Amino acid sequence: TTHLASADPEVSAAIDAELHRQQSTLEMIASENFAPVAVMEAQGSVLTNKYAEGYPGRRYYGGCEHVDVIEQLAIDRLKALFGAEHANVQPHSGAQANAAAMSALLDPGDTILGLNLAHGGHLTHGMKLNFSGKLYKVAAYGVSEADHRIDMAEVERLALEHRPKLIVAGWSAYTRQLDFAAFRAIADEVGAYLMVDMAHFAGLVAAGLHPNPVPYADVVTSTTHKTLGGPRGGVILCKQEYAKKINSAVFPGQQGGPLEHVIAAKAVAFQYAAGEEFADRQARTLEGAKILATRLLSPDVMARGISLVSGGTDVHLVLVDLRHSELDGQQAEDRLHRIGITVNRNAVPFDPRPPMVSSGLRIGTPALATRGFGAEEFTEVADIIAEALIAAPDADLGGLRDRVSALTDALPLYPNLSVPALN
Ligand code: PLP
Repeated sequence: TTHLASADPEVSAAIDAELHRQQSTLEMIASENFAPVAVMEAQGSVLTNKYAEGYPGRRYYGGCEHVDVIEQLAIDRLKALFGAEHANVQPHSGAQANAAAMSALLDPGDTILGLNLAHGGHLTHGMKLNFSGKLYKVAAYGVSEADHRIDMAEVERLALEHRPKLIVAGWSAYTRQLDFAAFRAIADEVGAYLMVDMAHFAGLVAAGLHPNPVPYADVVTSTTHKTLGGPRGGVILCKQEYAKKINSAVFPGQQGGPLEHVIAAKAVAFQYAAGEEFADRQARTLEGAKILATRLLSPDVMARGISLVSGGTDVHLVLVDLRHSELDGQQAEDRLHRIGITVNRNAVPFDPRPPMVSSGLRIGTPALATRGFGAEEFTEVADIIAEALIAAPDADLGGLRDRVSALTDALPLYPNLSVPALN
């Protein structure tokens, strides 16, 4: 960043400090990951200068011959990765992808049925302050109080009661796999479209470690920066019959010029995602979450009133249930922050505490798996987290911070992007 450092020392210094933060702490926010340097290189390229309204071969601007190649590569790779008939790689984000997909299939005032935000759903699945909750009538299903799993009988009951035009399956904080066939059957029963938002688990699907929603859903949306490990952005996959509607809902419906530099980075990320190293990484992601679950369910932790939502995990994250613990979500997040572990507090289903405090922690393993963590390192991380959560309020956590530093030193992140001033 020599150009940046001389042109804008303030921004440059903050970026360097962020690199140092990423290198020297353990990133366990479940929706984050570390993009390969090649992905960031593509995103930081001259493509940032190009307007390309339209789609490959049908642009409203001249000079698109090279961005056409790039966008077509992204489309073809994405279709192949998930076995989809049609792909749109232009949505600027996951929220934009969902907005476009909904506007393609629905009219304002139509009813959607999605997972309750407080039970792990996403803002764009019908939260009242979000476009989805403002444009559409919303019915929401939840998880059962007994096992914290989505109750498909309730989904069916609500679908029959509200007759939604669209059922949304997908989540931001849930620890089990969804039954796509059951969602499809309910959608068919009430004549609804089925949209699956696989933003969180797309990387697991790409690696063949999670069921693929594409054969079941009319439309599948995703982000590209979570388990998928690419640049920040969104995508939409669909059956051929919706291709035209989806494309025109993205452009000109929701967006203007596509971000071709991000689309190039998406293309690079999709190629990574088809490889063996990626599949191995997703396997370590799942293994790490299981190790974390096992440690957090051990007697010394349970004795403090701490448990896990749904009693474990089948995906890349655990949800720590602090409803019966003196420690609340805010305190637990702060405590881990102090020892160099970054997570986010999260409401858990049936949470008695207010959302800004909450009774949960969402802890994910994708970024550490990308950093190279395997069973041995995840076992150590799990123990550090357990020790931190059960420590007395006034305990000295310095020893745990040292154990975090030993891990970040052992598996350096972006070793070739060093920050001379800070290291
Ligand atoms: N869908 C789900 C399930 C998500 O978890 C998220 C991210 O938080 C999004 C959509 C939105 O993605 P973005 O933040 O890129 O708009």
